[in-house]
Amino acid sequence: MNKKRVLIIYTGGTIGMMHEHRKKSLVPVDLRLLMKEIPELKAINCAIRYVSLSRPIDSSNVQPDFWIKLSVLIESNYSKYDGFVILHGTDTMAYTASALSFMLENLSKPVILTGSQLPLRAIRTDAKRNLITSVQLAAGRQVIPEVCIYFSNQLFRGNRAEKYTSSKFDAFESYNYPLLAEAGVHIRYNNDFILVKPNGKLKVHRKLDTNIALIKLYPGIHPAAMESVIRTKGLRAVIIETFGSGNAPTGDKFLDTLRDAVSRGISIFNVSQCSGGAVEQGKYETSIKLKEMGVVSGGDITTESAISKLMFLYGQGHSDKEVRKLFGKNLRGELTE
Ligand code: ASP
Repeated sequence: MNKKRVLIIYTGGTIGMMHEHRKKSLVPVDLRLLMKEIPELKAINCAIRYVSLSRPIDSSNVQPDFWIKLSVLIESNYSKYDGFVILHGTDTMAYTASALSFMLENLSKPVILTGSQLPLRAIRTDAKRNLITSVQLAAGRQVIPEVCIYFSNQLFRGNRAEKYTSSKFDAFESYNYPLLAEAGVHIRYNNDFILVKPNGKLKVHRKLDTNIALIKLYPGIHPAAMESVIRTKGLRAVIIETFGSGNAPTGDKFLDTLRDAVSRGISIFNVSQCSGGAVEQGKYETSIKLKEMGVVSGGDITTESAISKLMFLYGQGHSDKEVRKLFGKNLRGELTE
């Protein structure tokens, strides 16, 4: 049988960083230097090729253009490889994984993002294990037709994951969806929760609309600050990160600010600040008014996913009405309908 082929795409992040002597801070280094550090990759029964962004970045510098570049790179290599591993910083990995999940429609091959909490050269690095197992998953007999995050023995659906710690090795969690696989002595797949392979051909969506904003609520939020966000020129939608199961203040000032936005054609989406559980508008009195003014519930979607889903939906040229409808639909396994 022919060996499976895996493309490793290096974008930067701690995994590929080394200390820059003068500044004493971590900066991304060249891919060739990195791969020399992991001779174990040669022992995996698959053909591995590497490609690097011309300038690897700290993932805090990720922008939607970067997602487009990555999607196009996957598209142009799609027929040549059985799976893709993307080396990426952890800080915005969940955003990239979510965005790619929407942009790569009909994905039938694994796209696995991984990185590490300690650089590859650090003695106690977690980079090697994360990378080696990601490659094994991408080349595995069991095909996972999804954009995933593999980190610290756990395989997550990418658009369900979030970075929850910057200090522990298991940096990611998925509170509203089970793991797709777990790597112990053996790799155990959670087959019932893995997406079914689609029939259609891969379709790469390259347009994203960034005319959206996110407002995190907190006790004492300044209505004028909210208003200035809502009055951003060209804005189409606002995600409000609400309390608990989608609750918000009931004071007139707050609600009037939202009503004003709605009356000016801005769509409002409700996503919870809680990592687990879902928005249930109407469960408490503190969310009834939101429902009445047409705020759209995000259910159990993550904020990372909600942001990229809106950029994607508006980017497709949908009307505001269509976006409001599609936002609540399960497109790539990102929410429970
Ligand atoms: N700042 C780094 C990044 O996201 C952190 C990491 O990779 O863990 O690129």
